[in-house]
Amino acid sequence: MAKGNGSILANNSQQSVIDDAPGIFSRLRYSPFLAQLVIIRRCNLSCSYCSEYDKVSDPIPVEILGQRLWKLKSLGTFGISLTGGEPTLHPQLPDLIRKCRQLGFFRTGMISNGFLLRPELIKALNEAGLQEMQISIDGVEANDATQKVLSNLKKRLQWLREHARFRVVVSGVLGACPPHEAEEVLSFARQMGFIPRVLLLHDSNGQLKPSHGEVKTFEKIWCSQTRSVWSKSLMDYTRTDLREQFYQYKPCHATCTLGCARSTSQLDNWRTQPGFNS
Ligand code: SF4
Repeated sequence: MAKGNGSILANNSQQSVIDDAPGIFSRLRYSPFLAQLVIIRRCNLSCSYCSEYDKVSDPIPVEILGQRLWKLKSLGTFGISLTGGEPTLHPQLPDLIRKCRQLGFFRTGMISNGFLLRPELIKALNEAGLQEMQISIDGVEANDATQKVLSNLKKRLQWLREHARFRVVVSGVLGACPPHEAEEVLSFARQMGFIPRVLLLHDSNGQLKPSHGEVKTFEKIWCSQTRSVWSKSLMDYTRTDLREQFYQYKPCHATCTLGCARSTSQLDNWRTQPGFNS
């Protein structure tokens, strides 16, 4: 893989992988509609409910991420969402977004806590071709569990409104703050012209329901079951694996918290999968 003009260019073998990508029927039947790619595990925050970050990891080298993007493309993936940790901590985030657009993913998005957004970065993301940013906001005022609240983020959201040329989805999260604060977050998001969404907080057990009894039940079901189902390394994945996993029943799926990649893929409702559509 070679770099040039701030972008990551393909070598011949990678191009042949793309040329050998599955046909449209196979893609529509089996390929992921949305893949989330972790580009850095480090985060600038420490939300008490989160198990998806650390304080020590370096950014994943852009060469490795480029190979993973090629692999996802060769498996017929339609959309890509860059995530972390906190992806704005990756120094080459705009280059990675540009790479996603060069590869022709139908949708290139990212997830952020919004804290590190500045007008210069928003403009760089515009130039790179970002199509969507999702920001989850836990409530209005900070507490012991979270700093990811409206009172800390209003200035950044204002900058997004002024400068972003991509879609901004603001999710009000139920679970870390008093429930009425999520309503205030959504109301603010609407006023700002963003797309409002509601999410349920999931904890280190992966899934939650609001009531205590339901939480107890959910503690028995753990999203890591899904992780073990998908424990194969991306770079070893084949189209046969896609087909096998497509038909693999995952008992946690029906109660998966909103916003997880599988749940956000609305089109999966159209692709009939035994056990999934009940
Ligand atoms: S901002 Fe996101 S990744 Fe960072 S600690 Fe909070 S929930 Fe986890």
